[in-house]
Amino acid sequence: MYADIIIDITHEKLDRVFQYRIPSELEGVLCVGMEVLVPFGRGNRETSGYIVAFSKTSDYPAEKIKPIFKAAEKSVAIESKLVALAAWMKEQYGGTMIQALKTVLPVKRREAARLKRRVRLLLDKKEAKKRLEYYLSKNQKARARLLAGLLEQPEQEYELITKKLNVTLAVIRSLEEQGVLALESEKVDRGTVRYQKRKEEKVWFNEEQEAAVRRFWEDYSREIYGTYLIHGVTGSGKTEVYMEMIRRVVSLGRQAIVLIPEIALTYQTVLRFYAWFGDRVSVINSRMSAGERHDQMERVKRGEVDVMIGPRSALFTPFGNLGLIVVDEEHESSYKSEQVPRYHARETAIERARMENASVVLGSATPSLEAYYRCRTGAAVLLTLTLRAAGQKLPEIYTVDMREELRRGNRSIISDRLKELIQERLEKGQQTMLFLNRRGYAGFVSCRSCGYVVKCPHCDVSLSIHKGGRLVCHYCGYEERQKDVCPSCGLSCIGGFKAGTQQIEEIVRQEFKGARVLRMDMDTTKQKDSHEKILSAFSNGEADILIGTQMIVKGHDFSNVTLVGVLAADMSLYSNDYRSGEQTFELLVQAAGRAGRGNLRGEVVIQTYSPEHYSIRMAARQDYEGFYEEEMRYRELMGYPPVSNLLAVLMTGADEEYLEMAAGYLKDFAVRADRTKLVQMIGPASPYVGKVKDEYRRILYLKCARKDSLIEIKNLLEQEINKGFSSIRIQFDLNPIGGF
Ligand code: ADP
Ligand code: ZN
Repeated sequence: MYADIIIDITHEKLDRVFQYRIPSELEGVLCVGMEVLVPFGRGNRETSGYIVAFSKTSDYPAEKIKPIFKAAEKSVAIESKLVALAAWMKEQYGGTMIQALKTVLPVKRREAARLKRRVRLLLDKKEAKKRLEYYLSKNQKARARLLAGLLEQPEQEYELITKKLNVTLAVIRSLEEQGVLALESEKVDRGTVRYQKRKEEKVWFNEEQEAAVRRFWEDYSREIYGTYLIHGVTGSGKTEVYMEMIRRVVSLGRQAIVLIPEIALTYQTVLRFYAWFGDRVSVINSRMSAGERHDQMERVKRGEVDVMIGPRSALFTPFGNLGLIVVDEEHESSYKSEQVPRYHARETAIERARMENASVVLGSATPSLEAYYRCRTGAAVLLTLTLRAAGQKLPEIYTVDMREELRRGNRSIISDRLKELIQERLEKGQQTMLFLNRRGYAGFVSCRSCGYVVKCPHCDVSLSIHKGGRLVCHYCGYEERQKDVCPSCGLSCIGGFKAGTQQIEEIVRQEFKGARVLRMDMDTTKQKDSHEKILSAFSNGEADILIGTQMIVKGHDFSNVTLVGVLAADMSLYSNDYRSGEQTFELLVQAAGRAGRGNLRGEVVIQTYSPEHYSIRMAARQDYEGFYEEEMRYRELMGYPPVSNLLAVLMTGADEEYLEMAAGYLKDFAVRADRTKLVQMIGPASPYVGKVKDEYRRILYLKCARKDSLIEIKNLLEQEINKGFSSIRIQFDLNPIGGF
């Protein structure tokens, strides 16, 4: 037996695997992730490395392969747990071990730790005043300014003092030489927020919250670790429940990770954690520099942190005794990585927790089908919160049939009902949010008169418009020509669905003269912080109407918003992938959750051409269970996740003809590689974007209830492509979201 070993993984150049022989005394002792000592380099210096895989054969002559010396002493180091997790990720999601390792291990960089400098006055008041007079008499203005500043506040930060008082380092040095002040420096961890723990304000849990914590703790205190899903409406007090669970886990000397989607990681939320856990909390986000992240991870390793909060990547925090992982808003698509390995943070969290005897708590107002299915099959425990914690009522929801509007002669994008309600808000001085659903928008074709949407007869997803009036299915490649009349009603109202936020802003400004309007979309949020600026302006009442894409839906509380209008609920309903129904339901419920967060009851208007669609009906009734049942019926019928598994195989190459040939060959190869004969192959087809940066793309879908069958074929495909097709690149996406 041989072991593939990565040497010194903490270095930036971690890009090679070395093969070693396993001596007989170590057979059966070693496992993936373990730290071992091996001979390395010319002098065969004893060096430590990590086992990333085993193999029965070797690529080199057996006599040339060196043996492993021994397992390292403390071989259950934190890193080895993460290496084992990386090995799992590579197996599940594809790519190389190096790519997986780079995802889980912070690469060490040589970066100077930052020093914080401080200036401190050494003289007492009387002496200092005398000295100040002296400087003034000598007309030494800069020195006088500095001393006067220090007289006001005897200890100040270097950066502040140089800026505020406009003095140079030379001036500070000269006063230091004269014994007037001291320039001191202290090493600080970049990215640390010093925050005093507040006196804990006890919230009295309602019965549901109490029951959720009790259920979790019954297991945990008996060392039963599992996965829990908190299904709670927005504002039902989920965060408060997580914090109580974390407090208990931390009291046992264990640590917790809280994953929050970047967009929902607001200052408000973080403050609540600081208030509970003080500076035993660390927060990371994507705006932080590599140095700041590095310093925070060092704090973790030194045992200074109990709770790490952050987006997806916080999952790999190197805690020594991880006890709990919370995944807030677990339905969010941002938990799926867009880089190889295309891991899902929810699934990976569950695996990390399993490896480390920790529990996972998922939370959402609109759980993913994956999470809810887990509860149904007994793999997770469902905890339900049905009441808003502060007692506010859920909003009143109306659905408006836009086909009906058209029949009555209203060709505007705003229905009469919505117009009326906006007017009412303007008169009362309350605020409105108008939400244009553009998620997954990929140019589907529908009829404005009857609502008919053109779909693939094989895959039951919407066809997308391509150049030259072709309508294409992005799963199987099925194609048809765009029609002039609707096949369902025979009228010529059929066409692409077009509407942009800018256009809506113009219409709203015309319709409601004098209303103050803000717009938030990709265009208006290009600059750093513009996102926060728009939201805080709206929150401060600087506008009556906020128009935006799904960005405005997530996690923001505006107490004066009492009306939410969803302008085109259908846009995401007919995106070209199998999750479109789920995404629509989720967006509508989350959007509705924005209305009436304060003391005033909210109203929601959903405008649609398909009021009979279950995603829209169930969202209007805020009926998750009902939605789940309907959606699962579709997934079961079509063999889509979570009932089944879907593996997307993306093949790219510069030569289209050659790619076509290779894609065909690889498909046949996959068919032969499928020992179970249970895998269904779809494609290869051109994805929506057929060519990126001069590379052509083909995509093959593999469907099978058994994940291990798909993984086996994936591994064989990876080997095959390495053998022959040097000009073709291949990437995998297991249970994709949105697709390539
Ligand atoms: P969610 O995370 O489900 O949206 P939060 O935990 O943010 O809900 O709670 C919403 C609001 O209700 C917060 O201001 C929170 O402090 C408050 N809250 C939560 N639980 C209670 C409770 N039991 N009693 C009073 N207020 C509560
Ligand atoms: Zn199809």
